[in-house]
Amino acid sequence: MSKLQSVRGMHDILPPETARWREMERRIVGALEAYGYQEIRLPLVEHTELFARSIGEVTDIVEKEMYTFEDRNGDSLSLRPEGTAGCVRAGIQHGILHNRQQRLWYAGPMFRHERPQKGRYRQFHQVGVEAFGMTGPDLDAEQILMCARIWRALGVEGLRLELNTLGDPADRRAYRDRLVAYFERHRDALDEDALRRLHTNPLRILDSKNPAMRELIEGAPRVQEYLSEPARTHYEGLKARLEEAGVAYVENSRLVRGLDYYNRTVFEWVTDRLGAQGTVCAGGRYDGLVEQLGGRPTPAAGFAIGLERVAELLPHWDAGRLAAPDAYLVAVGEAAERVAPALAERLRDAVPGLRLVANCGGGGFKAQFKRADRSGAALALVIGEEEAQTHRVTLKPLRAGGEQVRVDEPALVAQLAAQVAARRQENHR
Ligand code: ATP
Ligand code: MG
Repeated sequence: MSKLQSVRGMHDILPPETARWREMERRIVGALEAYGYQEIRLPLVEHTELFARSIGEVTDIVEKEMYTFEDRNGDSLSLRPEGTAGCVRAGIQHGILHNRQQRLWYAGPMFRHERPQKGRYRQFHQVGVEAFGMTGPDLDAEQILMCARIWRALGVEGLRLELNTLGDPADRRAYRDRLVAYFERHRDALDEDALRRLHTNPLRILDSKNPAMRELIEGAPRVQEYLSEPARTHYEGLKARLEEAGVAYVENSRLVRGLDYYNRTVFEWVTDRLGAQGTVCAGGRYDGLVEQLGGRPTPAAGFAIGLERVAELLPHWDAGRLAAPDAYLVAVGEAAERVAPALAERLRDAVPGLRLVANCGGGGFKAQFKRADRSGAALALVIGEEEAQTHRVTLKPLRAGGEQVRVDEPALVAQLAAQVAARRQENHR
């Protein structure tokens, strides 16, 4: 039999790398909570129809990237390729969007059958934010400022904010006609995807990643020329707020986003350090989606961060250190082994946040110290026959220098508390 492997494009995240992910997620969630956003947990699987009706039939995602299957009842289900559709579905289903404002976030894996490469996977992870019931550009500004706060919290530098507006539906229709006429005139220069989209979803042609199409796209009409007054005012209002808050942006009139449901504001945070997979966060306004999915008209806006891409941009955090325990309990001899588990429990009770690994599986001093070193623990707590008799513990620094000392339990608790505080300070600068 061939060796069992994970599915192509779907990766395990192993320790200590998981510690880096946790720290990344902890900081992101901390920033979201600073704006009063609340977590929503959603299923990984939804009815396929939900994605067809929200993301749009003529999109990369729905046309060719979804993991769709029939369940045993013959229903067509899909692994979620993104979180907005499920979030809106849940909001409508539970009646939590109507007549109120709602600020939500979610985190978890998404699934798209794409060609795997660096920064592009078949299972990847997002943290996303959706807010409902607010029409003004103040919400758009809030969400962009949240992103900026997240990058600061993570120490991620050098991201460029790209900004555009898609106008309102009527603006978009007028623009669309002009765009079709333009591309019709240059039919010969269109690639296969563009030809297919020409009459179904011409705006998406602007989103093409084909370099051969770049020049043609550069010359295409710009949506800015077709904005209605309210849409223009909204866009100006957003830009004024960003300027006031000192957030730099670049206007990119080719930015249309891959999904159908956006209107007015769209934005992306982009890096030059990840090649073609440079977008680490994307979002915008989608005032029509709730109604489109059967809810009452409800303005909304959100964004999603691609965590694998952000993880590539983090400053050097020592994953081993982040994951390491504070102490490793070495117990040698029958009496020591008997009292060790009870002692470990008392220490965990007494020192909040203590990470204490207790030796399991016996072994002499040498073998146990080897495990202690391997664990990355800052301290070894040692009980031999003598310590077991006298209710003391020998405390030996493993990483920093310093003498070993024999201490009683209250002194040990104090030392461990200091170690926990030092670790937290070091890890969470
Ligand atoms: P791209 O243009 O890179 O395909 P997208 O427009 O399809 O991105 P969105 O649907 O807007 O992406 O998802 C938001 C973010 O999720 C992206 O900006 C990216 O950071 C991340 N993301 C999307 N698809 C993948 C993937 N297959 N692997 C890893 N991250 C992804
Ligand atoms: Mg994509």
